[in-house]
Amino acid sequence: MARERFAQRRLLGALTLALSLSVTVFQFNSAAIAEDGKISQSPLAAAQSEAVSLLKAYLQIDTTNPPGNESKGAEFLAKVLKDNGLEAQIFETGPGRSCVYARLKGSGKKKAIVLLNHIDVVPARAEDWKNPPFGGLEVDGEIWGRGAIDMKGIAITQLESLLMLKRSGKKLDRDVIFLATPDEEVGGNFGANWFVKNHADLIKDAEFLFNEGAFIDTADDGKARYSGVAVSEKSVLWLSLTARGDAGHASMPMRDSSVNRLLQSLNKIVENPPKPTVLAPVREYFKRISPTVGEPYRSAFADIDESVKKPELYEDIKKDKFKSAMLANTISPTVLKAGYKTNVIPAEAYAELDCRILPGVDKDTFINSLKETMKDSSVEVGVLDWVHTDASPYDTTCFEAISKVLGKNLPGVPVVPMVMPWFTDSHWFRDLGIASYGFAPFKIDQDHLASMHGKDERIQVGNFNDALKIFSEVLEELCVAK
Ligand SMILES: [Zn+2]
Repeated sequence: MARERFAQRRLLGALTLALSLSVTVFQFNSAAIAEDGKISQSPLAAAQSEAVSLLKAYLQIDTTNPPGNESKGAEFLAKVLKDNGLEAQIFETGPGRSCVYARLKGSGKKKAIVLLNHIDVVPARAEDWKNPPFGGLEVDGEIWGRGAIDMKGIAITQLESLLMLKRSGKKLDRDVIFLATPDEEVGGNFGANWFVKNHADLIKDAEFLFNEGAFIDTADDGKARYSGVAVSEKSVLWLSLTARGDAGHASMPMRDSSVNRLLQSLNKIVENPPKPTVLAPVREYFKRISPTVGEPYRSAFADIDESVKKPELYEDIKKDKFKSAMLANTISPTVLKAGYKTNVIPAEAYAELDCRILPGVDKDTFINSLKETMKDSSVEVGVLDWVHTDASPYDTTCFEAISKVLGKNLPGVPVVPMVMPWFTDSHWFRDLGIASYGFAPFKIDQDHLASMHGKDERIQVGNFNDALKIFSEVLEELCVAK
């Protein structure tokens, strides 16, 4: 045990040295360019090339979760912060797992803002990829690696924006907190959940938070359609259904067998999906994107409340699974288990449902409506997991700042609030009363979106540079004293 620890520490030491060398190299490069009278580089251009180097180095650190090993990523981030004069604290949340916390001080005239990002990434099978998932390579103008978008790319955009703000020397009205956490991809118990349980005091003065969530929705030809800002996610409710009955010989069928009753209940669930519910931010989303689409959707989206009441039109809108998920609670049967032999009717049949619930709907109300749909009280409903999330308001100075900067950088592209079908770590912080926004101003088309938890995750250098410009301007808009 002790020897293993020692070996780990040596490995960490070697890694830190390697990282510090790579950090030194790009700092030298940007400094040399800045000091060279022949080549003038703006602070933004210098920051952009520094951010690209940082991202490549960060992508080379394998933080696949499970197991995570995010401490290596945390050491990397902490070193960059310390090298730039920011005190970075590392909190160990489990073996090989750590958070990084740092704070850039302002006058305190306004409440603090948190830049939240997760260090872990989902697994990647190297043999499926065109370039190595932990190579951090630049190929044909794109930076490749697991996490290039989700969310090491976003994390570096946050980190570099913080460094730009510090270097500008401008007076700040509020503190900016940088918080990198492990374990988001598996639910956050060793990450965001751990942090809010143990160190909520460190962020108790925060008013706003930026996290992953929504992107700039982009057509395949590269044209931005709308800029999404996630104001909420759906709550996660995982349920089990168990039907019990007599076991028997399958040569003599039983109408009310466990399998038959479970299948009948599941059939009713599938045939009678939850009715649409248009939440205020979702109504606003459809209204704001309506001018960007052709008919019949232009008119349909402009008045989504009426459109979902027209069965044919609603069925047509639901063909877009992403938009459909914003309009209703959803139920996906996923696990089915029953029986062990063809000629034996089993005494028990079991299913699991992945339900995603709109913010504002409570667990028991949903379960009661599910039971009404099934119309079979003998089928037992169990709760496997429940992650409740609230919505953040979008009439805030933070949302306003985002809209202003995006409007300047992408004229004519609407900025829209969104309720995401999948969850992020934001809900832990909304529970503390911090208005949390999924804001990552990367232009993402279908191909790049699919790469996020799929293969060949990568981000175009130009796109990454543009995102840094936008993010740093938003941070400046919110923090610099006027
Ligand atoms: Zn993520």
